[in-house]
Amino acid sequence: MIRVTMYNEFYHEQTKENVKAIYPNGMHGAIKEFLDAEGSFEPMRVATLEMPEHGLTQEVLDNTDVLLWWGHVKHEEVSDEVAERVVRRVKEGMGFIGLHSAHASKPFRKLMGTSSDLLRWRESADLARVWVIDYAHPIAEGIGDYFELEAEETYGEHFCIPQPDDLVFVTWFSGGEVFRSGCTFHREQGRIFYFQPGHETFPTYYNENVRRVIANAIKWAYNPGARKIVTGHVPVKPNVLSPFRDKLEANFTK
Ligand code: ZN
Repeated sequence: MIRVTMYNEFYHEQTKENVKAIYPNGMHGAIKEFLDAEGSFEPMRVATLEMPEHGLTQEVLDNTDVLLWWGHVKHEEVSDEVAERVVRRVKEGMGFIGLHSAHASKPFRKLMGTSSDLLRWRESADLARVWVIDYAHPIAEGIGDYFELEAEETYGEHFCIPQPDDLVFVTWFSGGEVFRSGCTFHREQGRIFYFQPGHETFPTYYNENVRRVIANAIKWAYNPGARKIVTGHVPVKPNVLSPFRDKLEANFTK
């Protein structure tokens, strides 16, 4: 069973009536509800900004296979120490799924190394048509040619990310913009997926296609083969396959 933790800044759901009405248990509550019922995951662990160390202690991260991240207006309140700890664990093999405005979060920006906080946007309730670009990708499994969200916040190009390793989805918005809405990246042993839908004033995390994509992405990002990497200087050993080796070695070490 895959061990999933979701970090949610959990601010809009406590301060805005219209968001609270859609997500009475927080966006993390809506995501936990379907992941816990899906059958492939341990009960999802929740981390929020208000918790000590934002709920992301070393112990929690060491016991997390895939971390989901939702943040919007409180990115800068996440401590650098916790952000660095998340980035380190991703490089060691923990999966990371950036949801919606997580593109501007500290860990995602550090992982991308670009100005990934920059993109066009408009809070306008445009129709969003999410097109599958990579039919063979496991994250698109079970999704038709496209699916629609009747209202979403518009994100448009240009999105200042590095060239994705896989471009799984591109979304068209009824205002005319297009956006690379489902992208994968690899950083050392960590698999990263960014997925754009999920503005807090729309019921996006109840949509069955969105839920399917998130569950697929967690399975894709799970890396049970992560290992301790050996790097650094490696002394040469006598090599029986090369009779000249010892002679060459003597020259090198002169
Ligand atoms: Zn938003």
